Amino acid sequence: MSFENVSLFPFTAEVNEDDHLVIGGCDVVDLAAEFGTPLYVFDEDTLRGMCREFRMEFGTRYPNSRVAYASKAFVNPAIARIVAEEGLGLDVVSGGELAVARAADVPPDTIYFHGNNKTPEELEFALDYGIGQIVVDSFHELEVLDVIAGERGVRQDIMLRLSPGVDPHTHEKTTTGILDSKFGFSIETGDAAKAIRQAMSAANLDLVGIHFHLGSPIFELEPYELGVEVVLNYLTQFKEEGLRLEIFSPGGGFAIGYVRSEPPPQIAEYAESITKYTSRLCEELGFGTPLLVVEPGRSIVGRAGVALYTVGGIKDIPTVRKYVSLDGGMGDKHSTRDIRLGI
Ligand SMILES: *Cc1c(COP(=O)(O)O)cnc(C)c1O
Repeated sequence: MSFENVSLFPFTAEVNEDDHLVIGGCDVVDLAAEFGTPLYVFDEDTLRGMCREFRMEFGTRYPNSRVAYASKAFVNPAIARIVAEEGLGLDVVSGGELAVARAADVPPDTIYFHGNNKTPEELEFALDYGIGQIVVDSFHELEVLDVIAGERGVRQDIMLRLSPGVDPHTHEKTTTGILDSKFGFSIETGDAAKAIRQAMSAANLDLVGIHFHLGSPIFELEPYELGVEVVLNYLTQFKEEGLRLEIFSPGGGFAIGYVRSEPPPQIAEYAESITKYTSRLCEELGFGTPLLVVEPGRSIVGRAGVALYTVGGIKDIPTVRKYVSLDGGMGDKHSTRDIRLGI
């Protein structure tokens, strides 16, 4: 049996003659025996395939584009190396993720540092590593970063994260681009205008681009179109004041399949919407062709990953349901196996 048409499994998934799941040519029962469970298995073919699909779909429609893997979806040095080899940049949201990127020799100029509460130590680490863009999220960060760059005698490229007030129709806890959000400078309240002016006049910072991220997972195309439209239209008023839009990033949040009955849009459809709106509006509004940065996270890694568990007790409640207990769950952080291994 082949899993080719079941988009929830890795590309290489199949079932062998023993009725075992096989991923990337490895029988998962053998993997469980060798490494123990719970065990996360990632399929390299799927990872590379998704990276290529994103690059191809965006790059053919809008050549000046970059795909940056949003590594909070899952990262370790092996995965960081693979996505870098596939020509993707990397989004990080903490010093820990940045340390993984450095351990994997990810070129610093392809790294974007996001997050609403970067500590001074994390910002210092990022500057010392020479990372490309810091995506500034608050006035506090703008001030702290300007001082840190000044102390080092460097000018740091930054982007600002704006909150455009567009609802992506996903879970309220993962909605990030509306007024009531801890992320970004709100257009509605006037914070965005203040932040843009403050960033342009900062002594040690160069404002090179604008970012927004609406939330995840976004199953619709319209929120991206609306977000691009709202933000680009908004930015025109700052052109005369000297705003340079070298980089424009409408974030990530592209949906993946969780159940067979709810397939997400194709990557091509997201790419078509985003590149069409970005090129048309940039042209109309005189922004030229800024570097378009999209930041898929789960859509790169989700389908590549499979968690393996061992079944324990089974509790059958007649006419109600059957509970099957596994040796994992709650994020799988602290299984007895990890404790035994001292992880
Ligand atoms: C989480 C996040 C993403 C990616 O979200 P996914 O749903 O994993 O695609 C992109 N950009 C930013 C700033 C994020 O915080």
